[in-house]
Amino acid sequence: MTLRVTMLGTSGAVPTVERNPTGIALNRDGRRLLFDCGEGTQRQMMRYGTGFDVTDVCITHTHGDHVLGLPGLLQTWDFNDRTEPLTVHVPPGEREAVRTLVRANGNETGYQVEYAEVAPGEIVLSGDGFEVRAVAVDHRSTAVGYALVEEDRRGRFDREKAEQELGIEPGPKYSKLHRGEAIEHDGETIHPEQVVGPARPGRTVVYSGDTRPASGIERAAADADLLIHDATFGEDMAERAAETGHATAREAGELASRADVDRLVLTHVSSRYAGDEAALLSEASAAFDGECTLAHDGLEIEVPLPE
Ligand SMILES: [Zn+2]
Repeated sequence: MTLRVTMLGTSGAVPTVERNPTGIALNRDGRRLLFDCGEGTQRQMMRYGTGFDVTDVCITHTHGDHVLGLPGLLQTWDFNDRTEPLTVHVPPGEREAVRTLVRANGNETGYQVEYAEVAPGEIVLSGDGFEVRAVAVDHRSTAVGYALVEEDRRGRFDREKAEQELGIEPGPKYSKLHRGEAIEHDGETIHPEQVVGPARPGRTVVYSGDTRPASGIERAAADADLLIHDATFGEDMAERAAETGHATAREAGELASRADVDRLVLTHVSSRYAGDEAALLSEASAAFDGECTLAHDGLEIEVPLPE
């Protein structure tokens, strides 16, 4: 069951030669989602081969560096004769703004596009064994973050015990037990707990969008496998980060540490650090013991299933 995140764009508000404006492709077992869609996102999708059959675009907020790629991408899908409907999820109150942006050239797409507003705490979409929820953040404009949360997986099936201790032949009885149903065997009732371990947690991936360190993100990211967080500035610009509704790399690291996430990816890097970004990584790493990565365009992250 693959869960792969590709960082399509990792710049702050102003792109650089190395960094495109924000976009994140997520592929869970073939279901493709896009988080934010800065200018040029469609070419980054081609460059990094993330596939175009996206079902949902989840927008964190309507600042240009997160949405200006939408009109072009939606037009390309139209040129490609897309027929599948698309849902664009936007923060509360932003439906008309995004719809107006996409329709600015007056063209209607040949496929259906739905614009859905999502408030923090709401389920944005659900798929086979997972859902995406909107998360409260703290930015200067109306904004949300997103958390992809997988359902718990079934416990491990103790085949050795079933076969050797209980003498049950491999077959349909195994799947019944694994599904949580009791079976009759040799005149005895065998309960699933006898051969199936406790449910195992699924994976959680959280994307903050642009934000100050926010309690909503911290809660959503508790024990998460992956947190992708705003790290626009370094310590030298901590005041500016507070003024502009962004986080510093150190603040991202501190939040990741409090939430006890496995892996932190820093993104939305201000162009002022171009060529001199190592400090951001060390400032975050000083505050966070887990795996910490400074995102670059094209960074691919496979999120493994926990044992
Ligand atoms: Zn931004």
